[in-house]
Parts: sequence; C-alpha cells; structure tokens
Amino acid sequence: MNEFHGQGQSETPAPFSPTCGADSTESDSDKVGDLNARVIDRIDGASNGSGKGPLLICVGGVHGNEPGGVHALQRVTKKIREQGELCSLAGTLLALRGNCAALAKKKRFLDVDLNRAWAVVDLERVCTQDSDFDGATDQEVRELLSVIEKARLEERPIGLLDLHSTSGGGPPFSVVLSNKPSEKLAARIGVPCVHGLNEAIQGTLTSWFSDVVGPSIVVEGGESRTEETIRHLEAAVWSSLAVAGLLPDDHPFVRLARQLLSQATEEMPHHVNVCHREPIKAMHFHMASPGNRRFKSFDYVHKGQHLADNKKGPVVAQKDGFLIMPLYQNKGSDGFFLAEPCEDPSL
Ligand SMILES: [Zn+2]
Repeated sequence: MNEFHGQGQSETPAPFSPTCGADSTESDSDKVGDLNARVIDRIDGASNGSGKGPLLICVGGVHGNEPGGVHALQRVTKKIREQGELCSLAGTLLALRGNCAALAKKKRFLDVDLNRAWAVVDLERVCTQDSDFDGATDQEVRELLSVIEKARLEERPIGLLDLHSTSGGGPPFSVVLSNKPSEKLAARIGVPCVHGLNEAIQGTLTSWFSDVVGPSIVVEGGESRTEETIRHLEAAVWSSLAVAGLLPDDHPFVRLARQLLSQATEEMPHHVNVCHREPIKAMHFHMASPGNRRFKSFDYVHKGQHLADNKKGPVVAQKDGFLIMPLYQNKGSDGFFLAEPCEDPSL
C-alpha cells in the first residue's frame, strides 16, 4: 500500500539532488558518513497486517574507492524519511556500507578485494577462525555476513543490490548472474544488462548471496567519484525499490529515476553477453587512451583495434563488440571485457 496515491502530486519533489549538474568536488564525493557504522539506515514500511513485505538490501562501497553507492543510499534514505507517508515503503530497505575500512582510506581494498572474498572456502575460514586472527577484509566479511544472516532470520523475500562504479566510466549498467530470479530483477531496473561477467569472476558478494539467500545484482553507475554516477546509482535504487515491490511503479520518484536511466542509456543494447575477458598478470597492463580519450564501458570496438598494452606488447580486440569495464586504476585483475548483444535470458 502506498500512501502517495490519491494525494496531490503537483509539487513532485525532486528525487535527485538539487546540487546535481556539475561534477562533484572531491570533498563532496568523500562524505561517506560514519565509517564505523555498517548500517547507513534501515527503513521499515508501515505494517499492513499481512506480514512485513519484502526486504531489499542495498550495499554501497564494497570497493572503498567507489563511494558513490554510499552517497546514493544516503540520499535515498534521507528522502524517504523526509517524505514520510508520501514515500511509504511496502517492505524494508536496509542500506549498508560495504568495506568501511577501505572507504575510510579511499582505497579499493586494504588486504584482499572484498568482492572476491565470498567463495565458500573463504567464508568457511572466516567463520571458523578466531576473530583475533581476522585480516582487514575478514572483519568486513564477518560483519556483513552477520547483518545479512540476521536479516535472513526474518523469513521474508530478500533481494540484494550491490552498487559500484568504474575507473573508466560510461553509462550505468547491471552485472547479472545467470539465474532466473536475478535475471528478472535486473531486466526491470531500466539499465542494460551484462550477462556472463559475474561468472568470469570468483567470490563476488552477489554470487554468494544469489546461491544462498536470494536474487542479487550489481549496478555499475559510471565513473567513480562523479556526481553523474551518484545520480545513476540513486536512480537505480529508486527503480529497484519498485522492482522489489516496495514502491509502486508509478511513484513519482520511480518514474523520474527510470526516465533518467533511460536517457543515460539511450541507443544501448538492453542485453549483452561477455565473450572475452582480458586477464591481468602481475599488473603489466595499461589501457590505451586513443586521442587522449579514455575508453568507456559500452564503447563499440572492432576486431584488431588497439585497446591496451601489456608486457608482451599491444593488446587488440579479438572481435567486434562492446567494451566493458576498461581498467584505468592500478588495482584489479581484469583489464577489460568484450560483450555481444544477446536476447533477454529471463524470458
Ligand atoms: Zn567496484
């Protein structure tokens, strides 16, 4: 039940920050709040007597150099609280910080990539070892796991939205696991879906969540530390709240969010499938910048085109396709991916 219906909507509040437009300053992008607090906010919808409704868990800053997701969640939760009954949720939004220690240091990670730490073997080690022996990432995993496991005890439908950004930039898109519930969730958010990418990476938070808890996707908002990316991620959260059934599809915030996402992804294919991963060995890898312009995600490249250089020399595109997540930072194990248009696998 949403209280917004039937009430005057002439003064639709702006869902996206009135300060938006220009690129944010470093200080704005770094306001990630209390880094000792795992939970950014938890907003429980009004009880309607028929149960508590679904629970949407949103995580920002799993990579500490990508604070945009935390900003987006702070903005969404603030607006929901400000709007009161005009933005009443038919369930619960739980907004979390991912890697608190790395966010504080503005680094991707401290010892181990938190988004590669969710393989069963790693979780078993963390769960059985004394916490005194925890490394920096172990602590983050332990705390996140504890919050998510507690949420599971509520026995409600649960989904996860994991908010990221990229070093190379580009339009927003989702990274989708190959299972029907996650594919269905992703297909309705309103950004292009990249399939087959998560499978190329081991130990992601969404892989574990999807195996053990419920549907989950990653949304990449664009280039890290830009206002535009925060707005994309904020829009993705509003849209996901509707997909999860917490807000109606015609809620003004949801409509405006989907409008923004649609404008940001105009003329892009709705679904692509990864056909090539360029691994990085020993960090001998430099993405090219033709004409001083960096490649972005969803740039269309042609077979034989010079994309990067590694220890052995130039790296060229193995086939025509869309470039996904070109790496322009010094930490990471994937140089770039290539993807081809495909059908919606959720159909
Ligand atoms: Zn990331």
